[in-house]
Amino acid sequence: MDGNQLRDEVVAAIAARLVAAGSPPVCLATVLVGDDGPSHVYVRNKHRKAAEAGMVSRHVELPGSATQAEVETEVAALAADPSVHGILVQLPLPAGLDEERVLDLVPPEKDVDGLTERSMGRLVRGRPGLVPCTPLGVIRLLERYEVPTSGKRAVVVGRSTLVGLPLALLLARKGVDATVTLAHSRTADLVGVCREADIVVAAAGQARMITADHVRPGAAVIDVGISRTETGIVGDVDFAAVEPIAGWITPMPGGTGPMTIACLLENTVTAARMQGVDIP
Ligand code: NDP
Repeated sequence: MDGNQLRDEVVAAIAARLVAAGSPPVCLATVLVGDDGPSHVYVRNKHRKAAEAGMVSRHVELPGSATQAEVETEVAALAADPSVHGILVQLPLPAGLDEERVLDLVPPEKDVDGLTERSMGRLVRGRPGLVPCTPLGVIRLLERYEVPTSGKRAVVVGRSTLVGLPLALLLARKGVDATVTLAHSRTADLVGVCREADIVVAAAGQARMITADHVRPGAAVIDVGISRTETGIVGDVDFAAVEPIAGWITPMPGGTGPMTIACLLENTVTAARMQGVDIP
């Protein structure tokens, strides 16, 4: 499952859709605090792809020494600005800053990361809203590669509010209809649990923890985990061992990462429509 290719398809489709709508200025704003290297790379990529999709973007950068009040002031200003349709606060914030209080300032209709309390509440309640990008990217990969999900057994390894938990909810939703097991570090017999699954999503952040033993022949295996090693980025899946037996598999890098960005842009279009921008 090629995440780079699907991301390019999604970006091109959004660009065409915006042109057809008369190129309204759809604006994604990012907030970056501190000097975390990977976060800078992620944010730069998001802006580059937003431009390719025909969007306007805005960037607010604060030093790692910024106070809670300074961060909150910037986010509140973006929240109040009608020309800004999506707000992404790049996480994690530097130690000492209260993420929850910052996220609370993002209105649900601008919450393109889908991580605020109200967006998560909408997801749980099955109400229309913005859904976290990485889990949504996994769903888009399953759809695009026509991996059957209805009635199938899916195991999500990792229960964070960023990835695992919302993904479990999305997989269990009506329309996707998987039977979901949410595994974590206390799960007994993880090998046995994963081997039962038609779909295994690894989101634990443990390099190459999913081996051939975990995978039933023909299963779909989706790698979300990112570990930085001396030899480069490594996923949670031992790709070389699992690829010969899997029915579908994502590479790392080149799988779920690009889809996270694609879904951020998809969410920004949805956010703009929720705020009354006329996009068919
Ligand atoms: P967290 O550290 O918040 O959560 C990790 C989860 O994995 C926890 O629920 C933990 O269990 C579980 N876990 C850890 N070790 C094991 C193990 N040995 N067996 C089973 N479960 C285990 O991480 P995130 O959810 O934020 O991120 C997960 C990974 O995804 C990271 O590598 C991150 O870098 C990556 N990521 C990738 C993205 C992408 O676009 N591809 C986007 C976002 C994140 P417990 O709760 O019991 O501690």
